[in-house]
Amino acid sequence: MYDLLITGGLVVTPSGAQPLDIAIADGRIAALAFAGTTPLDSAARVIDVGGKLVVPGGVDPHVHTNSVLPTAAESGIMCFGADRVSEGAIYGGTTTLVDFAHWKPGDDLSESFARKAAEWNGQTYTDFALHGTFKEPEIPFDVLEQIPDAVRNGHGSWKVWMTNTTPTRPHQKTDLGNMWGIMEQTAAAGAMLAVHAEDDDIVMYSYRRLKHQGAIGIENMHHAHNVLSEKLSFQRAITLARHVGAAIYLMHVSANVGIDAIRQARGEGAPIYGEILPHYAYFSAENYREPHGAVYHTYPSLKNAEDRDQMWPALIDGTLSTLATDGVCTDFDVKTRGSTIYDATGGHAGVEMRMAVAYTEGVVGRGLDLTRYVDLTSANAAKILGLYPRKGAIAVGSDADLAVLDIDVDRRVTAADLHEADYTPWEGYRTRAWNMMTLLRGQVMVDDRNLIAGPVGELQRQRVSHDVLSRPAC
Ligand SMILES: [Zn+2]
Ligand SMILES: [Zn+2]
Repeated sequence: MYDLLITGGLVVTPSGAQPLDIAIADGRIAALAFAGTTPLDSAARVIDVGGKLVVPGGVDPHVHTNSVLPTAAESGIMCFGADRVSEGAIYGGTTTLVDFAHWKPGDDLSESFARKAAEWNGQTYTDFALHGTFKEPEIPFDVLEQIPDAVRNGHGSWKVWMTNTTPTRPHQKTDLGNMWGIMEQTAAAGAMLAVHAEDDDIVMYSYRRLKHQGAIGIENMHHAHNVLSEKLSFQRAITLARHVGAAIYLMHVSANVGIDAIRQARGEGAPIYGEILPHYAYFSAENYREPHGAVYHTYPSLKNAEDRDQMWPALIDGTLSTLATDGVCTDFDVKTRGSTIYDATGGHAGVEMRMAVAYTEGVVGRGLDLTRYVDLTSANAAKILGLYPRKGAIAVGSDADLAVLDIDVDRRVTAADLHEADYTPWEGYRTRAWNMMTLLRGQVMVDDRNLIAGPVGELQRQRVSHDVLSRPAC
Protein backbone atom coordinates (compact mmCIF):
# COMPACT_ATOMS: atom_id res chain seq x y z
CA MET A 1 0.00 0.00 0.00
CA TYR A 2 1.40 3.37 -0.99
CA ASP A 3 0.90 6.43 1.18
CA LEU A 4 0.20 8.72 -1.73
CA LEU A 5 -0.30 8.56 -5.47
CA ILE A 6 0.26 11.64 -7.61
CA THR A 7 -1.51 11.30 -10.96
CA GLY A 8 -2.30 13.48 -13.92
CA GLY A 9 1.02 15.30 -14.13
CA LEU A 10 3.65 15.81 -16.80
CA VAL A 11 6.57 14.43 -14.82
CA VAL A 12 10.19 15.33 -15.50
CA THR A 13 12.54 12.44 -14.74
CA PRO A 14 16.26 12.26 -15.56
CA SER A 15 15.32 10.59 -18.82
CA GLY A 16 12.69 13.05 -19.99
CA ALA A 17 9.23 14.46 -19.46
CA GLN A 18 6.19 12.24 -19.77
CA PRO A 19 2.79 11.67 -18.16
CA LEU A 20 3.49 9.41 -15.17
CA ASP A 21 1.98 8.24 -11.92
CA ILE A 22 4.22 8.81 -8.91
CA ALA A 23 3.68 6.39 -6.04
CA ILE A 24 5.08 7.46 -2.68
CA ALA A 25 5.78 5.40 0.43
CA ASP A 26 7.72 6.32 3.57
CA GLY A 27 8.67 9.68 2.13
CA ARG A 28 10.31 8.27 -0.95
CA ILE A 29 9.31 7.61 -4.51
CA ALA A 30 8.34 3.95 -4.51
CA ALA A 31 7.22 3.51 -8.11
CA LEU A 32 6.83 5.37 -11.39
CA ALA A 33 4.36 4.08 -13.95
CA PHE A 34 2.73 5.23 -17.16
CA ALA A 35 -0.10 7.62 -16.44
CA GLY A 36 -3.31 5.96 -15.33
CA THR A 37 -1.86 2.47 -14.94
CA THR A 38 -1.54 2.48 -11.15
CA PRO A 39 -4.70 1.21 -9.38
CA LEU A 40 -6.19 4.09 -7.41
CA ASP A 41 -6.92 1.78 -4.48
CA SER A 42 -3.23 0.97 -4.12
CA ALA A 43 -2.67 4.23 -2.24
CA ALA A 44 -4.12 5.68 0.95
CA ARG A 45 -4.53 9.02 -0.81
CA VAL A 46 -4.66 10.05 -4.46
CA ILE A 47 -3.97 13.55 -5.76
CA ASP A 48 -4.75 14.36 -9.39
CA VAL A 49 -2.66 17.38 -10.38
CA GLY A 50 -4.65 17.96 -13.54
CA GLY A 51 -2.01 18.26 -16.24
CA LYS A 52 0.45 20.40 -14.29
CA LEU A 53 4.21 20.09 -14.54
CA VAL A 54 5.83 17.99 -11.81
CA VAL A 55 9.54 18.51 -11.19
CA PRO A 56 11.93 17.69 -8.35
CA GLY A 57 11.71 20.22 -5.55
CA GLY A 58 14.28 22.92 -6.14
CA VAL A 59 17.71 22.88 -4.53
CA ASP A 60 19.08 26.36 -3.86
CA PRO A 61 22.76 25.88 -3.13
CA HIS A 62 23.41 29.35 -1.75
CA VAL A 63 21.34 31.16 0.88
CA HIS A 64 22.25 33.07 4.02
CA THR A 65 20.17 33.24 7.19
CA ASN A 66 20.38 34.95 10.55
CA SER A 67 23.60 36.77 9.86
CA VAL A 68 24.36 40.27 11.01
CA LEU A 69 24.51 42.36 7.87
CA PRO A 70 28.14 43.33 7.48
CA THR A 71 27.26 46.83 6.35
CA ALA A 72 24.99 47.26 9.36
CA ALA A 73 27.32 45.71 11.91
CA GLU A 74 27.03 48.64 14.30
CA SER A 75 23.22 48.36 14.34
CA GLY A 76 23.17 44.58 14.72
CA ILE A 77 20.52 44.23 12.00
CA MET A 78 20.24 40.63 10.88
CA CYS A 79 18.76 39.06 7.80
CA PHE A 80 15.79 36.76 8.30
CA GLY A 81 16.20 33.28 9.67
CA ALA A 82 15.44 29.81 8.39
CA ASP A 83 11.73 30.10 9.19
CA ARG A 84 11.05 32.98 6.83
CA VAL A 85 13.44 31.97 4.06
CA SER A 86 12.27 28.37 4.00
CA GLU A 87 8.65 29.53 3.97
CA GLY A 88 9.34 31.53 0.82
CA ALA A 89 11.24 28.59 -0.63
CA ILE A 90 8.54 26.01 -0.02
CA TYR A 91 5.90 28.29 -1.54
CA GLY A 92 8.09 28.70 -4.60
CA GLY A 93 8.73 24.97 -5.04
CA THR A 94 12.22 24.78 -3.54
CA THR A 95 12.61 21.97 -0.99
CA THR A 96 16.31 22.10 -0.07
CA LEU A 97 18.34 25.15 0.94
CA VAL A 98 22.07 25.26 1.58
CA ASP A 99 23.31 27.77 4.15
CA PHE A 100 26.68 28.41 5.78
CA ALA A 101 28.12 27.24 9.10
CA HIS A 102 30.86 29.66 10.03
CA TRP A 103 33.90 28.40 11.88
CA LYS A 104 35.05 30.75 14.63
CA PRO A 105 38.51 30.68 16.19
CA GLY A 106 38.38 28.35 19.16
CA ASP A 107 35.70 26.12 17.65
CA ASP A 108 36.03 22.52 16.72
CA LEU A 109 34.48 22.22 13.26
CA SER A 110 31.72 20.04 14.69
CA GLU A 111 30.71 22.91 17.00
CA SER A 112 30.33 25.30 14.06
CA PHE A 113 28.00 22.89 12.30
CA ALA A 114 26.01 22.14 15.45
CA ARG A 115 25.54 25.84 16.19
CA LYS A 116 24.16 26.60 12.73
CA ALA A 117 22.06 23.44 12.53
CA ALA A 118 20.41 24.45 15.82
CA GLU A 119 19.20 27.65 14.14
CA TRP A 120 17.48 25.57 11.44
CA ASN A 121 16.14 22.59 13.35
CA GLY A 122 12.48 23.00 14.20
CA GLN A 123 12.27 26.21 12.16
CA THR A 124 12.49 25.11 8.56
CA TYR A 125 9.86 24.09 6.02
CA THR A 126 12.55 22.78 3.67
CA ASP A 127 15.36 20.33 4.15
CA PHE A 128 18.76 21.96 4.47
CA ALA A 129 22.50 21.41 4.28
CA LEU A 130 25.41 23.53 5.47
CA HIS A 131 28.61 24.60 3.77
CA GLY A 132 31.42 24.76 6.31
CA THR A 133 33.03 28.17 5.97
CA PHE A 134 36.25 29.85 6.92
CA LYS A 135 36.31 33.63 7.22
CA GLU A 136 39.76 33.98 8.69
CA PRO A 137 42.98 34.92 6.91
CA GLU A 138 44.75 31.98 8.52
CA ILE A 139 43.35 28.62 9.61
CA PRO A 140 45.21 26.66 12.32
CA PHE A 141 46.54 23.30 11.16
CA ASP A 142 44.68 21.42 13.86
CA VAL A 143 41.43 22.83 12.42
CA LEU A 144 42.39 22.05 8.81
CA GLU A 145 43.08 18.50 9.91
CA GLN A 146 39.51 18.15 11.23
CA ILE A 147 38.10 18.55 7.71
CA PRO A 148 38.28 14.83 6.78
CA ASP A 149 36.30 13.83 9.87
CA ALA A 150 33.67 16.48 9.16
CA VAL A 151 33.39 15.25 5.56
CA ARG A 152 32.91 11.69 6.83
CA ASN A 153 30.16 13.06 9.07
CA GLY A 154 28.26 14.30 6.03
CA HIS A 155 29.60 17.84 5.56
CA GLY A 156 30.60 17.54 1.92
CA SER A 157 30.95 21.22 0.95
CA TRP A 158 32.95 24.18 2.20
CA LYS A 159 33.39 27.81 1.31
CA VAL A 160 36.08 30.46 1.43
CA TRP A 161 36.18 34.14 0.49
CA MET A 162 39.08 35.60 -1.48
CA THR A 163 38.14 39.17 -0.50
CA ASN A 164 36.88 41.14 2.46
CA THR A 165 34.30 42.45 -0.07
CA THR A 166 34.21 46.02 1.25
CA PRO A 167 36.72 48.04 3.26
CA THR A 168 34.06 48.51 5.94
CA ARG A 169 33.37 44.88 6.77
CA PRO A 170 34.88 42.63 9.37
CA HIS A 171 37.50 40.45 7.70
CA GLN A 172 36.39 37.33 5.88
CA LYS A 173 39.21 36.82 3.40
CA THR A 174 41.33 33.70 3.48
CA ASP A 175 44.72 34.20 1.84
CA LEU A 176 45.83 32.07 -1.07
CA GLY A 177 48.24 30.01 1.01
CA ASN A 178 45.56 29.01 3.49
CA MET A 179 43.16 28.34 0.61
CA TRP A 180 45.76 25.96 -0.71
CA GLY A 181 45.76 24.19 2.65
CA ILE A 182 41.95 23.97 2.71
CA MET A 183 41.88 22.64 -0.85
CA GLU A 184 44.39 19.94 -0.02
CA GLN A 185 42.08 18.77 2.73
CA THR A 186 38.82 18.96 0.77
CA ALA A 187 40.39 17.25 -2.24
CA ALA A 188 41.81 14.41 -0.15
CA ALA A 189 38.58 13.97 1.80
CA GLY A 190 36.33 14.04 -1.28
CA ALA A 191 34.51 17.33 -0.72
CA MET A 192 33.60 20.36 -2.80
CA LEU A 193 35.10 23.79 -2.06
CA ALA A 194 32.90 26.76 -2.93
CA VAL A 195 34.75 29.99 -3.57
CA HIS A 196 33.67 33.61 -3.39
CA ALA A 197 36.25 34.71 -5.92
CA GLU A 198 37.18 38.36 -6.09
CA ASP A 199 40.66 39.85 -6.18
CA ASP A 200 41.00 41.64 -2.86
CA ASP A 201 43.87 43.89 -4.03
CA ILE A 202 41.92 45.10 -7.04
CA VAL A 203 38.68 45.55 -5.12
CA MET A 204 40.25 47.49 -2.25
CA TYR A 205 42.30 49.68 -4.59
CA SER A 206 39.15 50.36 -6.61
CA TYR A 207 37.32 51.51 -3.48
CA ARG A 208 40.13 53.92 -2.66
CA ARG A 209 40.20 55.25 -6.19
CA LEU A 210 36.42 55.72 -6.40
CA LYS A 211 36.47 57.53 -3.08
CA HIS A 212 39.25 59.78 -4.36
CA GLN A 213 37.13 60.49 -7.45
CA GLY A 214 34.06 61.25 -5.33
CA ALA A 215 32.23 58.43 -7.06
CA ILE A 216 30.96 56.26 -4.21
CA GLY A 217 27.28 56.05 -5.21
CA ILE A 218 25.91 52.55 -5.69
CA GLU A 219 25.76 53.17 -9.45
CA ASN A 220 29.55 52.68 -9.36
CA MET A 221 29.42 49.29 -7.64
CA HIS A 222 30.59 47.47 -10.77
CA HIS A 223 33.69 49.66 -10.91
CA ALA A 224 34.63 48.52 -7.40
CA HIS A 225 33.68 44.86 -7.92
CA ASN A 226 34.93 44.85 -11.45
CA VAL A 227 35.63 42.53 -14.32
CA LEU A 228 39.41 42.58 -13.77
CA SER A 229 38.86 41.35 -10.22
CA GLU A 230 36.75 38.46 -11.48
CA LYS A 231 39.28 37.55 -14.13
CA LEU A 232 42.29 37.52 -11.82
CA SER A 233 40.56 35.75 -8.95
CA PHE A 234 38.94 33.06 -11.09
CA GLN A 235 42.27 32.34 -12.77
CA ARG A 236 44.05 32.09 -9.41
CA ALA A 237 41.38 29.91 -7.80
CA ILE A 238 41.29 27.60 -10.81
CA THR A 239 45.08 27.41 -11.04
CA LEU A 240 45.29 26.51 -7.38
CA ALA A 241 42.51 23.92 -7.68
CA ARG A 242 44.15 22.28 -10.67
CA HIS A 243 47.51 22.22 -8.93
CA VAL A 244 45.96 20.41 -5.97
CA GLY A 245 43.50 18.32 -7.97
CA ALA A 246 40.59 19.86 -6.06
CA ALA A 247 37.02 20.28 -7.29
CA ILE A 248 35.72 23.82 -6.80
CA TYR A 249 32.42 25.58 -7.18
CA LEU A 250 32.67 29.24 -8.16
CA MET A 251 29.73 31.06 -6.68
CA HIS A 252 27.91 33.99 -8.27
CA VAL A 253 29.71 34.22 -11.61
CA SER A 254 29.02 37.76 -12.77
CA ALA A 255 31.06 38.44 -15.90
CA ASN A 256 32.11 37.03 -19.24
CA VAL A 257 35.71 36.73 -18.07
CA GLY A 258 34.53 34.42 -15.28
CA ILE A 259 32.59 32.30 -17.73
CA ASP A 260 35.64 32.13 -20.01
CA ALA A 261 37.92 30.95 -17.20
CA ILE A 262 35.47 28.19 -16.26
CA ARG A 263 34.93 27.19 -19.88
CA GLN A 264 38.64 26.79 -20.49
CA ALA A 265 39.23 24.72 -17.35
CA ARG A 266 36.26 22.46 -18.02
CA GLY A 267 37.36 22.07 -21.62
CA GLU A 268 40.59 20.66 -20.26
CA GLY A 269 38.68 18.23 -18.05
CA ALA A 270 38.98 19.94 -14.67
CA PRO A 271 36.13 19.57 -12.14
CA ILE A 272 35.32 23.28 -12.01
CA TYR A 273 31.68 24.33 -11.54
CA GLY A 274 30.01 27.72 -11.81
CA GLU A 275 26.84 29.25 -10.43
CA ILE A 276 24.77 32.15 -11.68
CA LEU A 277 22.11 34.16 -9.95
CA PRO A 278 18.85 34.77 -11.83
CA HIS A 279 19.09 38.51 -11.38
CA TYR A 280 22.64 38.62 -12.80
CA ALA A 281 21.08 37.14 -15.92
CA TYR A 282 18.24 39.66 -15.99
CA PHE A 283 19.36 42.98 -14.51
CA SER A 284 22.53 44.95 -15.15
CA ALA A 285 24.52 47.75 -13.53
CA GLU A 286 22.11 50.17 -15.21
CA ASN A 287 19.48 49.12 -12.65
CA TYR A 288 21.62 50.60 -9.85
CA ARG A 289 20.57 54.00 -11.20
CA GLU A 290 16.92 53.43 -10.35
CA PRO A 291 15.54 55.26 -7.28
CA HIS A 292 15.96 52.15 -5.12
CA GLY A 293 18.70 50.53 -7.16
CA ALA A 294 20.05 48.77 -4.06
CA VAL A 295 17.16 46.32 -4.41
CA TYR A 296 19.04 44.61 -7.26
CA HIS A 297 22.41 44.43 -5.59
CA THR A 298 24.26 41.36 -4.46
CA TYR A 299 28.04 41.01 -4.20
CA PRO A 300 30.20 40.94 -6.26
CA SER A 301 27.95 43.21 -8.38
CA LEU A 302 25.73 43.43 -11.38
CA LYS A 303 27.84 44.03 -14.48
CA ASN A 304 27.16 45.49 -17.91
CA ALA A 305 24.57 44.25 -20.40
CA GLU A 306 27.14 42.28 -22.39
CA ASP A 307 28.00 40.26 -19.28
CA ARG A 308 24.36 39.81 -18.31
CA ASP A 309 23.53 38.58 -21.79
CA GLN A 310 26.02 35.71 -21.63
CA MET A 311 24.65 34.19 -18.42
CA TRP A 312 21.79 32.18 -19.91
CA PRO A 313 23.78 31.02 -22.95
CA ALA A 314 26.56 29.81 -20.63
CA LEU A 315 24.06 27.93 -18.48
CA ILE A 316 22.36 26.41 -21.49
CA ASP A 317 25.59 25.33 -23.18
CA GLY A 318 26.72 23.64 -19.97
CA THR A 319 29.63 25.93 -19.07
CA LEU A 320 27.84 26.94 -15.89
CA SER A 321 25.90 24.47 -13.81
CA THR A 322 23.52 26.00 -11.31
CA LEU A 323 21.06 28.78 -10.66
CA ALA A 324 21.30 29.96 -7.04
CA THR A 325 19.96 33.03 -5.33
CA ASP A 326 22.58 34.14 -2.78
CA GLY A 327 19.47 34.85 -0.77
CA VAL A 328 19.83 37.37 2.03
CA CYS A 329 16.32 38.02 3.09
CA THR A 330 15.40 41.38 4.61
CA ASP A 331 12.57 43.83 4.29
CA PHE A 332 12.74 46.78 1.92
CA ASP A 333 13.88 49.39 4.45
CA VAL A 334 16.92 47.31 5.36
CA LYS A 335 17.66 46.38 1.77
CA THR A 336 17.66 50.03 0.70
CA ARG A 337 19.18 51.60 3.83
CA GLY A 338 22.56 51.97 2.15
CA SER A 339 23.05 53.65 -1.21
CA THR A 340 26.82 53.75 -1.64
CA ILE A 341 29.48 51.22 -2.52
CA TYR A 342 30.39 51.18 1.18
CA ASP A 343 27.04 50.58 2.83
CA ALA A 344 24.77 48.84 0.32
CA THR A 345 23.10 45.72 1.67
CA GLY A 346 24.16 42.68 -0.36
CA GLY A 347 22.05 39.67 -1.19
CA HIS A 348 18.34 39.90 -1.72
CA ALA A 349 14.99 38.19 -1.44
CA GLY A 350 14.75 35.87 -4.42
CA VAL A 351 14.41 32.33 -3.14
CA GLU A 352 10.66 32.14 -3.74
CA MET A 353 10.86 33.33 -7.35
CA ARG A 354 13.83 31.23 -8.49
CA MET A 355 11.91 28.29 -9.96
CA ALA A 356 9.42 30.57 -11.71
CA VAL A 357 12.07 32.84 -13.19
CA ALA A 358 14.10 29.86 -14.39
CA TYR A 359 11.07 28.45 -16.17
CA THR A 360 10.10 31.76 -17.70
CA GLU A 361 13.57 32.76 -18.82
CA GLY A 362 14.84 29.29 -19.67
CA VAL A 363 11.98 27.16 -20.96
CA VAL A 364 9.67 29.84 -22.35
CA GLY A 365 12.24 32.45 -23.25
CA ARG A 366 15.04 30.29 -24.62
CA GLY A 367 13.54 26.92 -25.48
CA LEU A 368 15.32 25.10 -22.67
CA ASP A 369 14.46 21.42 -22.47
CA LEU A 370 12.55 20.40 -19.33
CA THR A 371 15.27 17.99 -18.19
CA ARG A 372 17.77 20.84 -18.44
CA TYR A 373 15.36 23.01 -16.45
CA VAL A 374 15.59 20.40 -13.71
CA ASP A 375 19.38 20.24 -14.04
CA LEU A 376 19.69 23.97 -13.43
CA THR A 377 17.12 24.26 -10.64
CA SER A 378 17.87 21.12 -8.62
CA ALA A 379 19.81 18.19 -10.09
CA ASN A 380 23.14 19.89 -10.71
CA ALA A 381 23.27 21.61 -7.34
CA ALA A 382 22.39 18.29 -5.70
CA LYS A 383 25.18 16.56 -7.61
CA ILE A 384 27.82 19.21 -6.93
CA LEU A 385 27.00 19.33 -3.22
CA GLY A 386 26.61 15.60 -2.72
CA LEU A 387 22.84 15.38 -2.26
CA TYR A 388 22.05 13.47 -5.46
CA PRO A 389 20.04 11.32 -6.21
CA ARG A 390 18.23 11.62 -2.88
CA LYS A 391 17.52 15.21 -3.92
CA GLY A 392 17.19 16.60 -7.44
CA ALA A 393 15.61 13.61 -9.16
CA ILE A 394 12.21 12.05 -9.64
CA ALA A 395 13.39 8.46 -9.55
CA VAL A 396 12.55 5.36 -7.57
CA GLY A 397 14.28 5.62 -4.20
CA SER A 398 14.66 9.41 -4.28
CA ASP A 399 13.03 11.56 -1.63
CA ALA A 400 9.51 12.50 -2.72
CA ASP A 401 10.34 16.22 -2.94
CA LEU A 402 8.12 17.60 -5.66
CA ALA A 403 7.07 20.94 -7.06
CA VAL A 404 3.81 21.07 -9.03
CA LEU A 405 3.90 24.03 -11.38
CA ASP A 406 1.04 25.63 -13.23
CA ILE A 407 2.58 26.48 -16.59
CA ASP A 408 -0.60 27.88 -18.13
CA VAL A 409 -0.21 31.15 -16.29
CA ASP A 410 0.81 34.58 -17.41
CA ARG A 411 0.84 36.84 -14.39
CA ARG A 412 2.59 39.92 -13.10
CA VAL A 413 4.29 39.20 -9.82
CA THR A 414 3.92 41.54 -6.90
CA ALA A 415 5.44 41.35 -3.44
CA ALA A 416 2.01 40.65 -1.94
CA ASP A 417 2.02 37.28 -3.80
CA LEU A 418 5.17 36.24 -1.99
CA HIS A 419 6.16 35.30 1.55
CA GLU A 420 9.82 36.04 1.90
CA ALA A 421 9.94 39.79 2.46
CA ASP A 422 7.85 42.94 2.00
CA TYR A 423 9.46 43.64 -1.37
CA THR A 424 10.68 41.65 -4.35
CA PRO A 425 13.26 42.60 -6.96
CA TRP A 426 10.88 40.82 -9.34
CA GLU A 427 8.07 43.33 -8.79
CA GLY A 428 6.05 43.48 -12.01
CA TYR A 429 7.89 40.53 -13.55
CA ARG A 430 5.73 38.54 -15.95
CA THR A 431 6.00 34.90 -14.90
CA ARG A 432 4.90 31.94 -16.98
CA ALA A 433 5.09 29.37 -14.18
CA TRP A 434 3.55 29.41 -10.72
CA ASN A 435 4.09 26.77 -8.09
CA MET A 436 0.80 25.40 -6.75
CA MET A 437 1.85 22.45 -4.60
CA THR A 438 5.04 21.36 -2.88
CA LEU A 439 5.84 18.01 -1.29
CA LEU A 440 8.73 17.41 1.08
CA ARG A 441 9.62 13.74 1.61
CA GLY A 442 6.09 12.78 0.62
CA GLN A 443 4.36 15.29 2.88
CA VAL A 444 2.18 17.91 1.23
CA MET A 445 3.63 21.18 2.51
CA VAL A 446 1.92 23.62 0.16
CA ASP A 447 -1.50 22.79 -1.26
CA ASP A 448 -3.15 25.15 -3.72
CA ARG A 449 -0.77 27.88 -2.52
CA ASN A 450 -1.55 27.40 1.16
CA LEU A 451 1.13 26.32 3.60
CA ILE A 452 -0.49 23.41 5.44
CA ALA A 453 2.38 21.76 7.33
CA GLY A 454 4.79 22.65 10.08
CA PRO A 455 8.56 23.15 10.00
CA VAL A 456 9.62 19.54 9.49
CA GLY A 457 12.82 20.11 7.50
CA GLU A 458 15.92 18.10 8.30
CA LEU A 459 19.68 18.46 7.94
CA GLN A 460 20.95 16.45 4.98
CA ARG A 461 24.19 14.53 4.81
CA GLN A 462 26.34 15.34 1.80
CA ARG A 463 28.61 12.94 -0.02
CA VAL A 464 29.95 14.14 -3.34
CA SER A 465 30.38 11.43 -5.98
CA HIS A 466 33.79 10.55 -7.36
CA ASP A 467 32.49 11.43 -10.81
CA VAL A 468 31.67 15.01 -9.78
CA LEU A 469 35.03 15.40 -8.04
CA SER A 470 37.10 14.12 -10.93
CA ARG A 471 35.72 15.75 -14.08
CA PRO A 472 33.17 18.40 -15.12
CA ALA A 473 30.29 15.99 -14.59
CA CYS A 474 27.35 18.38 -14.80
ZN1 LIG B 1 29.83 35.17 -1.98
ZN1 LIG C 1 26.51 34.53 -0.57
